[in-house]
Amino acid sequence: MTPDDRLAAIHARIASAARPARRDPADVTLVAISKTHPVEAIRPLLAAGHRDFGENRVQEAQAKWPALREEFGAVRLHLVGQLQSNKAAEAVALVDAIHSVDRSSLIAALARAMDAAGRRPACFIQVNIGEEPQKGGCAIADLPALLAKARAATLPVAGLMCVPPANVEPAPYFALLAKIARDSGVLGLSMGMSDDVEQAVSLGATHIRVGSALFGDRA
Ligand SMILES: *Cc1c(COP(=O)(O)O)cnc(C)c1O
Repeated sequence: MTPDDRLAAIHARIASAARPARRDPADVTLVAISKTHPVEAIRPLLAAGHRDFGENRVQEAQAKWPALREEFGAVRLHLVGQLQSNKAAEAVALVDAIHSVDRSSLIAALARAMDAAGRRPACFIQVNIGEEPQKGGCAIADLPALLAKARAATLPVAGLMCVPPANVEPAPYFALLAKIARDSGVLGLSMGMSDDVEQAVSLGATHIRVGSALFGDRA
């Protein structure tokens, strides 16, 4: 498959899941997760007109994206990986959305960085939806306090994000995140990856994060 075919195949999967859920496929943003892939692999998607991309490391994003933006113009860059507070200013300068806001100290660092830069990337609060000890994201019980802190700090809270436990049916976790978002008055839902686009879209995802189905396996 060419990169164009892969892009079209994901859009077809989004559309086929949106229809029975009575959702408009245009309400689902496909974030192409280009982490580990070189600019040569990214260029064909940009040439095909795709404009939302995600990286999981600030340093890698800094190495790849300024030149690609020069070449192709405006691109919406999403940060999906764990973010250290000492990288907050660099992230705020570079990306348009941060999907991994998961603790109070990071909210404080992001608020300071946004005030200093006069730039406010959209923020998704990452929830450890499967309550897994090794996983990023805040505990479900801690979400109300974090949301209150983010709102008080005038972070633009766009939604919630999750990565469900591996190798189990993800739908119950997507449904739980959607319920928590509804109960919290949050609109965006960043959920769903290459293997579970359909379940995520049918349960309300507004942002799906697809890497390997677009770029092939990572090294
Ligand atoms: C790598 C990554 C993805 C993409 O995963 P694929 O299975 O390759 O589609 C999505 N979300 C996050 C947070 C990631 O780190």
